[in-house]
Amino acid sequence: MKVTIVGNHCTWTRALSTSFLINDELIVDVPQGSFKSLYRDYGLDNIKYILITHFHSDHFADLHLVIDILSRRKGKYVILAPKGCKERLFSIFHAFDVPHLKKPVEEKFEFLECENGKSYSLGKYKIKTYKMIHGSLDAYGYIIDDGRVKVGFSGDTCMCNSLLKIIKKSNAIFIDASKIDENLNHLSVNEVLNLSREYKNTTFYPVHISDATKKLVKDFGLNETSEGQIIYF
Ligand SMILES: [Zn+2]
Ligand SMILES: [Zn+2]
Repeated sequence: MKVTIVGNHCTWTRALSTSFLINDELIVDVPQGSFKSLYRDYGLDNIKYILITHFHSDHFADLHLVIDILSRRKGKYVILAPKGCKERLFSIFHAFDVPHLKKPVEEKFEFLECENGKSYSLGKYKIKTYKMIHGSLDAYGYIIDDGRVKVGFSGDTCMCNSLLKIIKKSNAIFIDASKIDENLNHLSVNEVLNLSREYKNTTFYPVHISDATKKLVKDFGLNETSEGQIIYF
């Protein structure tokens, strides 16, 4: 599995927020600003599937721009997201005055709604979804299984049982490391460090980093990531 790190930061930095390309055909999260990179640096020619972890703007805000490009092409697309994705998109089409996108969305895009513990087949990928804890918002983590390796994506979450399930079942995980201190919305770098020591069969890649936690990731000897980095599993 080829994982391209489109962005690896959280909102309050200069760098792009966290987003991934899997084998150039599946996108995990489309944060604000990511469209520029997805379109100009990688192209969207081979995209078939889009996974959204939750509807905060640093995971979802550029989806309408990606849809605008895909809707001009032949082909069908699948979006796996928490409940209500299409309704939120239609609100965005209204807010940004692009109502013409409604028709191609109805015709070309299939929307699958995440359920805790459920598996979905997207072409050759088996995707398992886990409900995470991220404030009051419906948020999900994923395991993407291509038949060879299982790679986990925590999305935004604090410590919870679902996170441990993803870690135990995955060969590697891209994990929220937003915070210095433990809190109810995100993981701290300390928590990620402790998890990496406890679950040694899983490779941890801290992402959704801030300027402060980026330094801690390095100081703690955790795997550093960078924008544009490609990791093969
Ligand atoms: Zn969030
Ligand atoms: Zn976030």
